Amino acid sequence: MATHHTKMLIIGSGPAGYSAAIYGARAMLEPIVVQGLQPGGQLTITTDVENYPGFRDVIQGPWLMEQMQAQAEHVGTRMMWDTIVSVDLSGPPFRAVGDSGDEYIGETLVIATGAQAKWLGVPGEMELGGKGVSACATCDGFFYRGKKVAVIGGGNTAVEEALYLTNHSDDVTLIHRRDELRSEKILQDRLFKNPKISTLWNKAVVRFEGDPASGGLTHLLLRDTVTGEESTFAVDGAFVAIGHAPATELFKDQLDTDSSGYLVVEPGTPKTAIPGVFACGDVMDHTYRQAVTAAGTGCMAALDAERFLAGLEIDLDGHAHAAEAVA
Ligand code: FAD
Ligand code: NAP
Repeated sequence: MATHHTKMLIIGSGPAGYSAAIYGARAMLEPIVVQGLQPGGQLTITTDVENYPGFRDVIQGPWLMEQMQAQAEHVGTRMMWDTIVSVDLSGPPFRAVGDSGDEYIGETLVIATGAQAKWLGVPGEMELGGKGVSACATCDGFFYRGKKVAVIGGGNTAVEEALYLTNHSDDVTLIHRRDELRSEKILQDRLFKNPKISTLWNKAVVRFEGDPASGGLTHLLLRDTVTGEESTFAVDGAFVAIGHAPATELFKDQLDTDSSGYLVVEPGTPKTAIPGVFACGDVMDHTYRQAVTAAGTGCMAALDAERFLAGLEIDLDGHAHAAEAVA
């Protein structure tokens, strides 16, 4: 067990965390990034990315995140392969303890823990998880080569998952609880033009059915959201793609969250209610949730952390206090 000190502790290694690290390192804050269970964040579970500026041709999500990590390391960031299990925000300095038992002490803290896949919460979903039910087509699509699959949801993720699955299956059905999608038009066009994809409108999944011990998922029990009529839908694989929930559990007693669980920041800034603690990316952004916006707010968090430190004095035992508080 070791203790690691830094001027800027960053929790999370998606576009927000890596961008904060790049700016922090170049400001000589010697940042530490604690990467968490998903180094590189959500983009590591997708394939094509064609809306991140700077690349004329389509790039791959995992590749983009490798580049961001390499850039952050190149300018002086320390990467820690650890997951934070508790935080103490009563500082500065702020303390975090990792799954490894290591302690991290930051004069400022940048929270960039992003978001995680949401589940429907209906019977059979957990029991058949990994046995026909998944939340990641790019991770598990390969297992359904030549089989019949369904995607549940109507946002960008659902449409992209359905399109991706056509690499493996000729029989993909998008099941949505309404009769219109919320995904971008360009993705909708691709979906509707793809002969391998069918749509089932106004349908909610009531239950995933099958035997986890043999064969796994066999069908879905669906309910028509307009008529209430129930029906079954035979399928080998079902991909739940209904969005992501912010990863804020760690902070829930110490920072405010909004009604959807996102960290509350001062509007237009990454500043939380605790001076020296900043939140960036999907963990505080209910609206935009894009790689480029996460990177943008990561940059803002680092710039604000730098300004915060410039107004601080550090006492002899390494504790930081606002300059006016120690005057
Ligand atoms: P995330 O990428 O969610 O990263 C969160 C990080 O926090 C992870 O590294 C995780 O390990 C870490 N973490 C969490 N908890 C802890 C902990 N306790 N301790 C330590 N670390 C922790 N956006 C686009 O702009 N273009 C696209 O084409 C696109 N495609 C997408 C495809 C899919 C399938 C998905 C799911 C999303 C896509 N997005 C896309 C959205 C984009 O990925 C997110 O907006 C972006 O990744 C958010 O970045 P972030 O840094 O805030 O968080
Ligand atoms: P999202 O935009 O929040 O969409 C979630 C979808 O799931 C909605 O269609 C919603 O239905 C449906 N849904 C939610 N809860 C449900 C439930 N309990 N039962 C059935 N359906 C349910 O989430 P997302 O698609 O994951 O996208 C998240 C963010 O990442 C967005 O900002 C998106 O733009 C971004 N993203 C971008 C790209 C890209 O740029 N290429 C790719 C992926 C994601 P309703 O429509 O009825 O609410």
